[in-house]
Amino acid sequence: MERIEIHQSTIGDLEMCPARVGQKDVEGFTPVISEQALFGTVLHKMIAMNLNGATADSIVLSGFKELVEKTVVDEFVSKGQEPDLELADGMVAELIRGFNLWQKQAPPIEPYLIEETMEARLAVFEEEDYEIVLVGTPDVFTQDHVLWDWKTSGRPWKDGKAEASIQIPLYIYLVEQNYDVDIRQGNFFIYNRGSEEWTLHETYPSEEFVDSSLARAIEYGRLMHAGIYPATPLVYKWGKPERGWYCSEQWCPAWKICPYKNLGI
Ligand code: SF4
Repeated sequence: MERIEIHQSTIGDLEMCPARVGQKDVEGFTPVISEQALFGTVLHKMIAMNLNGATADSIVLSGFKELVEKTVVDEFVSKGQEPDLELADGMVAELIRGFNLWQKQAPPIEPYLIEETMEARLAVFEEEDYEIVLVGTPDVFTQDHVLWDWKTSGRPWKDGKAEASIQIPLYIYLVEQNYDVDIRQGNFFIYNRGSEEWTLHETYPSEEFVDSSLARAIEYGRLMHAGIYPATPLVYKWGKPERGWYCSEQWCPAWKICPYKNLGI
């Protein structure tokens, strides 16, 4: 049976422009590596190490620069690109500040699971012989049944952003299916790199929102199975078309090869 694997990040890409997913196996597709994403990856590692029992001192004193460099090198190598170690040098001091602030500002968290990758079948189509499987890695699931997700951002999150995100609903399903628990709360804890502060955004997805998020994931899985990847380079502001921010050399991995990027522009 064919397996269609769907991740929250895939849904994010499909919602911006399906063609960037459809072209991922074309020669010249160049995964985007951003300083912001690398910063977030290392900060996640530091927090996970701390929640797993490592002391703050042991994380930032011994071999920390090497940890940052290794993360940067691994990311570039896994995406077939030449590592840029200047990126690592530039973020070391800020990472330590962000982590120290996390220690001061995060509420007490008693983890049950830390960065565990899990999967759950969303749908099976016997006649067409394929299944759609959701895969994800929640940052933390706590003993009091709350999902936590850390993110870094250059500016404060707008009101309603946490509630609109389908990440928590999808992860609720993953954890419920794998651990047979009932979850109603997800917390985004956002590090604003501009103001250097963490803020908490709680969300309580309804059953209807969880169901509709799963339905969206299944629908995208069906489109992937059918190989339907329309290009949507445009967004509309007050009825006027303009290029979406994601359709750019900086943010689209398909930019170099995409024949659709000038559609309607
Ligand atoms: S370059 Fe633009 S149109 Fe092409 S895949 Fe990327 S976002 Fe879509």
